[in-house]
Amino acid sequence: GSMIGIIGCGQLGRMLVLAAAQLGYPCHVYGREPLGPAGQVAAHFTEGEYDDAKAIAAFAAECDVVTYEWENLPVNPLAALGPEVDLFPGVRPLEVGQSRLAEKTFVAGLGGLTAPFAPVRSEDELTDALDKSGVPAIIKSDRMGYDGKGQVRLQDRDDLSTVWQELNGQQALAEGFVEFDAEFSVLLVRGRDGAIRFWDAPHNVHEDGILRLSTAPAPENIQTHIPSARALARKIATELDYVGVLAIEFFATAEGPIFNEMAPRVHNSGHWTIEGAATSQFENHIRAICGLPLGDTRLIEGGAEMRNLIGDEVKLWSDHLSDSGSHVHLYGKRQPRPGRKMGHVTRLLPIN
Ligand code: ATP
Ligand code: MG
Ligand code: MG
Repeated sequence: GSMIGIIGCGQLGRMLVLAAAQLGYPCHVYGREPLGPAGQVAAHFTEGEYDDAKAIAAFAAECDVVTYEWENLPVNPLAALGPEVDLFPGVRPLEVGQSRLAEKTFVAGLGGLTAPFAPVRSEDELTDALDKSGVPAIIKSDRMGYDGKGQVRLQDRDDLSTVWQELNGQQALAEGFVEFDAEFSVLLVRGRDGAIRFWDAPHNVHEDGILRLSTAPAPENIQTHIPSARALARKIATELDYVGVLAIEFFATAEGPIFNEMAPRVHNSGHWTIEGAATSQFENHIRAICGLPLGDTRLIEGGAEMRNLIGDEVKLWSDHLSDSGSHVHLYGKRQPRPGRKMGHVTRLLPIN
């Protein structure tokens, strides 16, 4: 089949490569780590920097369609690709999805609810922003944050200058603390023809800013929020002329679903779809960017529960293998550093 180009070399790229292989497509991965999770399984690998426009153009010229598994990429090298390159989802989802200020402003403009937020570029602006949001508050770097990195939680206003130093002068935002009942995400795939399919929205549990557990279907207190969250997600995808898998994180609150952030790519809270849905998020992303018919997103059995293996937890992987109901996925990362996502385990749930 044609060659699929993937920019980024982590576990999301790895699982995209595996899904593409099942449909007969070889993948060419571009990134910094030839032996990273995706490079290990790719048919071709080009080692390069993400800001190297020439190298990215040469890579794209060797692929029939190009996608990315990481949104923290410089926009310019991708924006510079000519119209002969099919890049999905395009440049605009990347621009919007890589900046918290941009995505929250965009979503608020579409009528979605967000936590109160204000841009912060100096210690004075931080003080002003906290006058508005009050404490507790969360200060987040505008860009490059994931797994709770680049975030500081403020319980009181004492340590503002320390917080500002930790941010290293980066553009940031101050966000009001949301007293949520639960967290969930909307996972959808949009085809080149504009057709959208949703998976069951999983209930997500985070610890220390890192996803621990995703369960689909979500419990009743979340189900009531899903129709309006999906309506907003549909607007976002349509407005961005999105092609591929899009994930949007929400807080379930008494005021309704509050948009937290979007990921213009396959997402950790969708890993359960590999065994727990008729078509996985990875396969449907490949189908969408290749212009193929989208696959059924319905649940298998009673749904599924996915647990991340974080840091040293991966050392128990053989225990999980001994459990006949567990599907074990390891990402081929050599060093189990604290907080690092090393793999995940999925269990199907009984029909009730
Ligand atoms: P991800 O790995 O999902 O990309 P991230 O580093 O981009 O994470 P967020 O999703 O913004 O960070 O925040 C991580 C978690 O911190 C959230 O899932 C939620 O549990 C908590 N959190 C973030 N913002 C708020 C808020 N305004 N109020 C309350 N809790 C919050
Ligand atoms: Mg994030
Ligand atoms: Mg998040």
